[in-house]
Amino acid sequence: MGSQFTCTLCGRCCNGFGRYITINQKIGGAYGCSLSLTKESFMAVLDPGRSELFSDTSYQNEHPHACPFLRKEDEETIVCTIYQSRPRFCREYICCTGKVMRQDTVCGEMKGRRDIKTADPALQRAWNGLKERYGGEPDPQWKDGVRKTLTASGYDVIFYE
Ligand code: SF4
Ligand code: SF4
Repeated sequence: MGSQFTCTLCGRCCNGFGRYITINQKIGGAYGCSLSLTKESFMAVLDPGRSELFSDTSYQNEHPHACPFLRKEDEETIVCTIYQSRPRFCREYICCTGKVMRQDTVCGEMKGRRDIKTADPALQRAWNGLKERYGGEPDPQWKDGVRKTLTASGYDVIFYE
């Protein structure tokens, strides 16, 4: 079972970033940009082979709130065209903190600090109880409570490294 987060290139995390990332100017082959969320300024350079994809703005027309560098590569893949020079905030962002499994099947994705995405009603109920009991605790105690409680109910809990 993998203990590393794997990005599926769904693009969801970048779909609302148009309001935060602004391209201020083009300087030669680079773009001077700012990220208002963190007051970060950064120089973006299109990744090798991404110029043609970047010049196609149809994704922006369909997703007006998307980051200006986000593009659809194919039906299932949404890519950052400046991945190698993306800002620090994007480098540090992790959308999932872990997963909950039962019999080698993923039945929940842990998101943010105390959230879960699951279609398993029993897991959702257990999670709600965990939030009430440990939600206000520091992360190590929270993780310990999640691991112990869900393991006792027959789940495998994996926090990403
Ligand atoms: S980081 Fe998460 S939300 Fe963003 S593209 Fe990857 S899987 Fe999707
Ligand atoms: S710079 Fe790249 S990783 Fe950051 S929000 Fe835009 S598309 Fe996403």
